[in-house]
Amino acid sequence: MDYQTLTNLYENLEENPSRLKKTEILSDFLKTLKKDDLETIYLIQGKAYPDYSEKELGISEKLCIKALSKASGLSSDIIIEHWKKLGDLGKVAEQIINKKKQNTLFSEKITTKKVLENIKKLPELEGKGTVDKKLSLISELLTSASGKEAKYIIRTLIGDLRIGVASGTIRDSIIKTFFKANSREDTSKKPLGVLDSENKKKFTQAVQEAYDKTSDFLLVFEKASRGIKELKKIKLNPGHPMRQMLALKADSIEDGFKRVGKPAAFEYKYDGFRMLINKDDKGEIKLFTRRLDEVTKQFPEVVQYINEHIKAKSFIIESEAIGFDPKTKKYKPFEAISQRIRRKHNINQLIKQLPIEINTFDILYLNGKSLLELPFKKRTSLMRKLIKPYKHKIRCSHQIITSNEKEAQDFYKEALKDNQEGLMIKNLTSEYSPGARVGHMLKLKPAENELDLVITAAEYGKGKRFGILSSFTLSCKDEQGNFLEIGKASTGLKEKEELGLSYQELTNKLLPLVTKESGRQVTIKPKIIVRIIYQNIQRSPTYKSGFALRFPRITIVRDDMGLHDIAKLKEIANDYN
Ligand code: AMP
Repeated sequence: MDYQTLTNLYENLEENPSRLKKTEILSDFLKTLKKDDLETIYLIQGKAYPDYSEKELGISEKLCIKALSKASGLSSDIIIEHWKKLGDLGKVAEQIINKKKQNTLFSEKITTKKVLENIKKLPELEGKGTVDKKLSLISELLTSASGKEAKYIIRTLIGDLRIGVASGTIRDSIIKTFFKANSREDTSKKPLGVLDSENKKKFTQAVQEAYDKTSDFLLVFEKASRGIKELKKIKLNPGHPMRQMLALKADSIEDGFKRVGKPAAFEYKYDGFRMLINKDDKGEIKLFTRRLDEVTKQFPEVVQYINEHIKAKSFIIESEAIGFDPKTKKYKPFEAISQRIRRKHNINQLIKQLPIEINTFDILYLNGKSLLELPFKKRTSLMRKLIKPYKHKIRCSHQIITSNEKEAQDFYKEALKDNQEGLMIKNLTSEYSPGARVGHMLKLKPAENELDLVITAAEYGKGKRFGILSSFTLSCKDEQGNFLEIGKASTGLKEKEELGLSYQELTNKLLPLVTKESGRQVTIKPKIIVRIIYQNIQRSPTYKSGFALRFPRITIVRDDMGLHDIAKLKEIANDYN
């Protein structure tokens, strides 16, 4: 396919803010997609790989500016000036390339295949001369591109496509493309309309489940084109990460029992980070975080624990990794070990300094078979039989099964005394629902008002914080995936790094993500997620979300979380009510 065709689609999507319209446009496009061009689906997502892949294009704005300079002959300084004015490097690329094109007569058309080919080479490059090679690959594309094409090439490279298409829209478009109304699969005597809506519900669910199991819209698209039966055949694959089930909040033990029934399982809610442990049929072990980043290289000791303590051919196990002090062996909070998620050097030293213990809490796949549909009680008992526990290495989550409120209360107190966050409360008979925030797994924490939000803007400080970002605009997400501001936080951070998360450290994380500067204000690409503690929520016309947090305080950066983990407007409205 010509890249121009895809560019037209991008434009069309960008110009139409309504999600319904976007679904229609996208579905019309998908109907025309040839077998040979299916990877275009990744490009629509602004990527070159499926969602489960840990490969990120991760091209900095700085490198794109250099490539633009190489392709246009303009100096980097002029391009930066331009960028400051427009706040969108994509638009800058469009204008520059358009101007240049007036002076050149002919260039070859680029295809989506060529774009994919070049951008897929980028993360593979390593070692000497990497920057130059990357520059050549990017400027090769820019030189043949039209202005419009350059705009979207640059936006894809920096990971900010701005066409407002979240995964829900892609899912709905696939459904719209392939769901056939009036199909008489079901022979019941219901009127046609009712039957259609029931069948559509089933098809929608099958598409969603297929995506949750695979995190790969290309595969889902292919199977959906062949009908619901093919979609249902999609299996979990222990080589690929699966989207994990998420929890809802409980207000109390009593509320927990009310919602999941009696008896219920209570487990420690460990204060660590989620680790998905996958072992495939060939025996290869892969570890993933909650946002599906692969972290196997960072935790070689965990691979060893798994080999020594879990005897099974293949499996997918869910766990929480928690830190402990190597001397006193006392458990430590998440922030003490969070750096291990990203640090790839001096691993052996880190294993000694910041050791972790794995606490497994669910199993979803065992020896070639999916266990998703088994009741929770059966799954945990299978898991518990499989693991040879060893304190400070790997063990099963601390759990009781009870109908007794007093017993559950005592267990809750014990969890807090052991420095953990609280309890998880689980329905014994429910199946596992990948990717869903479900009512059969609840979390109970002391009544601290807490939200995970993304930083979308910030302001430089004055005086001693001159040159450092000191106030941070926080956003939640609505159902359509739009980011909505809900408050500004300027406390909780430390002046000095030794004391915890500092202003400087957060500034360093945010500066590469700045997309626009105006005086002391900067706009920031949503990526850095922080945990906020606040006093209460008010209605407020000041922010787009319609709410404002009172006294928000930043506690930690959640490097393990992805944008789908941040607080949703609906949950905030619930908390408010
Ligand atoms: P939250 O991050 O507050 O939404 O709480 C859900 C998280 O608690 C999960 O994503 C897990 O990382 C974590 N967690 C800790 N202990 C458990 C447990 N025993 N069962 C399930 N999740 C747990």
